[in-house]
Amino acid sequence: MDIDSLAQTLEAVAARGQRAAARIDASAGARALYSRDCWPYLTLQARAGESARFPPDAVVHATGVDDVVEVVRWCRARRVPLVPVGGGSGVAGAAVPTSGGVALDLKLLDDLDTSRATTGLAWAGAGWIGARLEHELNRRGLTLGHFPSSIGCSTLGGYLATRSAGQLSSRHGKIEDLVVGLTYVSNEGRLVETFGGGHDLTALLVGSEGTFGVIVGAWLRVEERPVHRRSRGYLSHGVAPALDGMRELLQRGHRPAVLRLYDEFDTYISGARKAGRPASAPTLVSRVRQHIGGAVDAAAARHAAIRAANALLGRSLGAPLALNAGARRIYDDCLLVVGVEEPDAELADAVAADVFGAIALPSLGPAPGEHWYAHRYNVSYKMSPLLAAGMFVDTMEVATDWDNLANLYAEVKEALGRHVFVMAHFSHAYVTGCSIYFTFAGFAADDSACLAKYRATWDAGLQAVAAAGAAVTHHHGVGIMKAGALDADHRGGGALFAPLKAAADPDGIFNPGKLWDTPTVFP
Ligand SMILES: Cc1cc2nc3c(=O)[nH]c(=O)nc-3n(C[C@H](O)[C@H](O)[C@H](O)COP(=O)(O)OP(=O)(O)OC[C@H]3O[C@@H](n4cnc5c(N)ncnc54)[C@H](O)[C@@H]3O)c2cc1C
Repeated sequence: MDIDSLAQTLEAVAARGQRAAARIDASAGARALYSRDCWPYLTLQARAGESARFPPDAVVHATGVDDVVEVVRWCRARRVPLVPVGGGSGVAGAAVPTSGGVALDLKLLDDLDTSRATTGLAWAGAGWIGARLEHELNRRGLTLGHFPSSIGCSTLGGYLATRSAGQLSSRHGKIEDLVVGLTYVSNEGRLVETFGGGHDLTALLVGSEGTFGVIVGAWLRVEERPVHRRSRGYLSHGVAPALDGMRELLQRGHRPAVLRLYDEFDTYISGARKAGRPASAPTLVSRVRQHIGGAVDAAAARHAAIRAANALLGRSLGAPLALNAGARRIYDDCLLVVGVEEPDAELADAVAADVFGAIALPSLGPAPGEHWYAHRYNVSYKMSPLLAAGMFVDTMEVATDWDNLANLYAEVKEALGRHVFVMAHFSHAYVTGCSIYFTFAGFAADDSACLAKYRATWDAGLQAVAAAGAAVTHHHGVGIMKAGALDADHRGGGALFAPLKAAADPDGIFNPGKLWDTPTVFP
């Protein structure tokens, strides 16, 4: 790739705008950095000492929309691949340059226009990191209502390109419900706006994972920031009663901001259950005591349980069937967290009374909800120490309608559970269905065995999703990892994608090797 020519192009753009030129970085460090996103498989490869498989030839940090236009034109003229990159927080390898070329970092595109807020609209550049954007909106009394766990390291462009979901999606919707139009740079290097009636062109770009063009900004639906929260935890014996409660709640028209159900072991791990546990409720220790006949006193049982749990984790991730079966026997309570948020205290009380009054499960009071709010961004960041300790951890989010939900849960849990320790929560619930978020951890004797086990785990999980006729992704996107499972999900979608892609990107420069245009799964 002729980097000097690219640099001259960017200098010319900067001279026209009388500003500094966009930075190009072709150093080994930058190329290695942009060869990976947060897909754990690539992290495992790095841990195994493998060199980066997908480095770009150069990274360009666009400082304005005109840089994006010129980089696209430059790439098209030379048939150089171009991968739009936001935060690089994707967990499926979507932002990985499979064929080299330019990694176009968009984080500096952070203009914001809230002058139409009374209409409920704001314009934001694609590079906004979610937390910064929300902060700026909050300062103006507004919210986007989009709170992914990765809010501190992901961008608006990434949300749009992967159909992201925030933690409060039951009330606010996913990002596709929050965008009313966007502007992208097409293959010819033209700015195209999709803010209009008729055929929904916005939907063509949303979820396209950088394969149709570069999104530079979007009109978003914003609303007055709700500052009054009310929350409750509820106890469910197994997931079924709480799932019925969630479905009925939504189908009767309620829209709580938080609606999360943890299965038995996720309830235990999340710690939220502990926050609302009545003194009389059984604990892990009391369960262990029950199983060993109640022969030891409480303090000894607690220490025994902690020692046993630590020893178990180290050893038993290598024996997932036994670990999964053991977890099922020890714990059987599930926690449902329900929260409402409103801008006005009286309204919050009224909505809370309606919502909480409609739930026929034993209440644990407000503590589990408050605990969840206080720790809601913590869980994802606990994965790194486990990776560093030689294990692997990942999450799999899938979705289906209410009728199929129990089947999907059982089948996927069983399939994953043959390879890894697995738990789940149900966190994005809608009128017609819900998503399931499986978290799993595995261990093998060495790094290459870990990689093999990771692949086998995903193969088994995705096959189970296909057999259950469910959606292979709810909000993490497809990337490289799930590309092989797309046909089972969309049934014929590839036949529609090919001509659309050929029309939108005849030279195939935009993020090659993604969605249906994928040569390899699990490189
Ligand atoms: C700890 C952690 C927690 C997470 N929690 C959530 C969660 O709660 N909800 C959720 O939805 N996801 C979550 N994710 C996944 C990830 O954050 C989302 O997929 C997010 O939308 C990716 O945004 P990004 O800016 O990092 O995109 P990147 O990873 O940089 O890119 C993702 C894809 O979007 C494309 N893209 C990026 N910007 C543009 C653009 N401007 N124009 C065109 N294409 C573009 C890229 O080419 C790539 O195909 C989590 C990830 C991590 C690591």
